Amino acid sequence: MPLPSSCRADTALKLCPHCDAAYRRLALVPGERAYCQRCGTELYRNNDRRYPILLPIVLASLIVYVICNAFPIVTMEIQGVSTQTTVWGAVRALAQEDMFSVALLVLATTMLFPLLELGLLAYLLVPLSGGRVPAGFGAVVRVVRLGRPWGMIEVFMLGIVASLVKLSAMATVIPGPALWAFGVLTVLLAIVVSFDPADLWEYAESVEKADRVRMAEEAR
Ligand SMILES: [Zn+2]
Repeated sequence: MPLPSSCRADTALKLCPHCDAAYRRLALVPGERAYCQRCGTELYRNNDRRYPILLPIVLASLIVYVICNAFPIVTMEIQGVSTQTTVWGAVRALAQEDMFSVALLVLATTMLFPLLELGLLAYLLVPLSGGRVPAGFGAVVRVVRLGRPWGMIEVFMLGIVASLVKLSAMATVIPGPALWAFGVLTVLLAIVVSFDPADLWEYAESVEKADRVRMAEEAR
């Protein structure tokens, strides 16, 4: 799918996210970064070397995400009685305690938004790695950007660790497979969010350019 021509004008300028200074984008060599002259914030970087690792990290994150949600986070033993819970079990327990807004927040920030981001990135990156720009590219990149601030697995992780430390005084607390998986997912997502979705425009443009060169060579 060809990229709309208006997109090229959007990617020609870059605004500093901190002080709003406008810069014309310059071509960088792989690994090079551009910084704001006024406040020193990183503006953009050449990700050509990093793009090939993004898809494996996104796919690994999806597998770890399934483990996070399929297995218990923690098993607690109090006076010989053992109970365990998953993330979904925690959401249901909160809803049953009439804490609907908290249940909804946990559901959205821990389950829905991370899955949305990973699923949409896989939708973009699988065809791009095969040299094709997927349908609805621009709209999907915008949804990824809008949804990103709502994925808060690291906050959930901190909450669990703090609760477990407090509960360990009252009960025997055994970390479940999902707790370790959440630790791994937190690290993987930190790598994923170090990529600015807006940079995918450049990736798509380089894929499109390579495709045009290939077609021109085939036509000869
Ligand atoms: Zn700046």
